[in-house]
Amino acid sequence: MKRHDNIYAVVGAADSREVVIAPADKYEARTMRSDAKASGTSFYCSVAVGGCGGKLKLAAGDVRLPYFSHAPEAACSLTDSSARDGYTHLAIQKALKLWVERSPQLRCDLEVTTLDQKGRSDLVIGSANDSRRLGLEVQLSPLTHDEMQRRSAIYLKAVDHVQWLYGNEDNQACWGEVERRRYALRVRINMQTLDCDLGYYGFHGAHDAGSIQTTWRPLADWIIRPNGLFSPSIKTVLEEAREQAERLHAAKPPRPPKPAAPTVPAYEALHTSLKSRFQHTLFPDNAAIRLRVINAIYRRTVKGQLDEATATELLEWLGRKPWSSWWKTLLGTRSKDAEIIIHVIDVHSRRRHDSKT
Ligand SMILES: [Zn+2]
Repeated sequence: MKRHDNIYAVVGAADSREVVIAPADKYEARTMRSDAKASGTSFYCSVAVGGCGGKLKLAAGDVRLPYFSHAPEAACSLTDSSARDGYTHLAIQKALKLWVERSPQLRCDLEVTTLDQKGRSDLVIGSANDSRRLGLEVQLSPLTHDEMQRRSAIYLKAVDHVQWLYGNEDNQACWGEVERRRYALRVRINMQTLDCDLGYYGFHGAHDAGSIQTTWRPLADWIIRPNGLFSPSIKTVLEEAREQAERLHAAKPPRPPKPAAPTVPAYEALHTSLKSRFQHTLFPDNAAIRLRVINAIYRRTVKGQLDEATATELLEWLGRKPWSSWWKTLLGTRSKDAEIIIHVIDVHSRRRHDSKT
């Protein structure tokens, strides 16, 4: 198997849009090969995906999984990943076109070049009874949000609305759309059956109950409108998720009333008193550390997490044993202040330890 050989091909001509993949089963592949021979059709390396356009043979031996093989002298630069993305793109375009054309009043053109020749829309959908045109862009590879907007602006010279369909939600352009208008649409295809689904990617729920996820529906569940694609069954899913979140939200017990805030002046006096009382015993060589520790303990007292007696006791004790883990446990490690102070005390105690050894 040469580097550009892979499981994809198009049928009938090098510029055909009829994608096939080599069946994984060798007997199935051999049947596909003899069927093609009997009907006089051949497989080609697609020029639409950047392939060489050469005729391909379906190799279905006993050792390797079946694949489409180039002629020995073929010069083809198609890589595995570009083949996969390119042929998937072709297959999705085809599936979308077939789907659109199932509606008798709709018309669908593929690869429509914009008037200024600067862009090429994947699909343009027009209607017999509406002059507006909808462009569909299938985006399987990563794209930045800026580039998506730049391309949309070009397409909008030829169509009235552009709908992007992303292969992967892990795509900046896709995220940008979710941020801007709460959702983006995704597309996927089963390359064996050529069944194609569209997905709604966005927040399902309400308040803080829910998640950003994709709900997939087959093409038949979607409706084409001049300003985009809609699925009534996804609307139902979203409504249910929202109702469920609302019920959860309503069932939450009401928050207990906050305890009345202590009057500040009393605590200001405490702060002043702590500062003066511990001036000589707590980190006597470092006023900045002393003030940070006193402030942290003072704030906890104001918030009602410590009472005044405990705060005093703590500071007295701290003056004697600044490296003790007991202090860390008491303050906890969640608060940013506590973390800063614990870090400072760690450094301080390490210094004391180092100076001893
Ligand atoms: Zn090729």
